[in-house]
Amino acid sequence: MRDFDYIAPKSVEETIKVLSEYKDEAKIIAGGQSLLNILKQDLMAPEILVDIKHLSELDYITYDEKEGMRIGATTTHHAVEVSPLVIEHYPILSEMEHTLAFPQTRNWGTIGGNLCIQDPTGDVAPPLIALRATVKIVGPNGERILPMEDFSTDYYETVLEEDEILAEVRIPPMAPRTGVAYSKFRIVEGDAPIVGAAVAFTLNEDGTCADARIATNGTAPIPLRIPDAEAVFKGKKITDELIQEAVEVAGEAMECIPDIVASDEYKKRVAKVYIKRMARKALSQIQ
Ligand SMILES: Cc1cc2nc3c(=O)[nH]c(=O)nc-3n(C[C@H](O)[C@H](O)[C@H](O)COP(=O)(O)OP(=O)(O)OC[C@H]3O[C@@H](n4cnc5c(N)ncnc54)[C@H](O)[C@@H]3O)c2cc1C
Repeated sequence: MRDFDYIAPKSVEETIKVLSEYKDEAKIIAGGQSLLNILKQDLMAPEILVDIKHLSELDYITYDEKEGMRIGATTTHHAVEVSPLVIEHYPILSEMEHTLAFPQTRNWGTIGGNLCIQDPTGDVAPPLIALRATVKIVGPNGERILPMEDFSTDYYETVLEEDEILAEVRIPPMAPRTGVAYSKFRIVEGDAPIVGAAVAFTLNEDGTCADARIATNGTAPIPLRIPDAEAVFKGKKITDELIQEAVEVAGEAMECIPDIVASDEYKKRVAKVYIKRMARKALSQIQ
């Protein structure tokens, strides 16, 4: 690992000033769970690490009946996992966090760090996309809000500019008659997933589908939302046959990329199985 300077700004405002001054020489560090591995392998050599882990103004979980949930970027995975507010309003997020990595990583790693490292297999983005989450980004020109599915741009790349930080995740209140499920396939407990799928359904009073969301991880360079498969459900009564039809459409839409653990064909097959299982599970929560 190369030598670097270390700065611990006292506020978000000061953090943005530091990033604006040092640009690509600086790198944010939060829990360090991904970044330290990258630095140890000399894959990156920033001149300055800008530590935001201690910033209490980014460490919170709140819930409001109208606005929904807000989670500060430096909130740890563990804090999300055990939060009574998360368990009450979005239990899927607590369940997802419970299966992410090991307790040590969950105690240090942050929700913001997980989204910003943009590992294609990351667990956090797909359920957030299914929950219609948005992210708040703060930079020298103020803040901007983006849908979660527009945050990632490529392997380990996001829309963040050098002088911007991810400040907050926002999740709208769940509509009545909504079910959400997420699960992933992995070989060893604690390891990153090979693929995963999140599905959310909202039903009309007559039982037909008002809204569907499908998102996968591990199947593409970025978390993949699959609108063509979602469209299969809109306005229809959800049956097992309709789920199978949507799974086949999703299979067509996923151009899976092979890696050292699985071929493209294998990933696609497993992802289709997980979409089907999660669709059934999400539906069973409402019916
Ligand atoms: C053993 C192990 C097992 C793991 N298993 C899983 C798993 O099963 N599922 C899974 O999804 N992940 C897994 N991970 C990844 C883990 O979730 C991430 O390492 C962790 O969430 C990153 O958060 P962090 O706070 O440590 O980020 P850091 O490592 O500090 O930072 C990561 C990156 O994000 C940037 N960054 C961090 N916060 C911000 C911010 N607010 N604004 C702008 N940029 C920011 C940093 O500059 C850096 O580029 C695993 C990691 C380890 C070490």
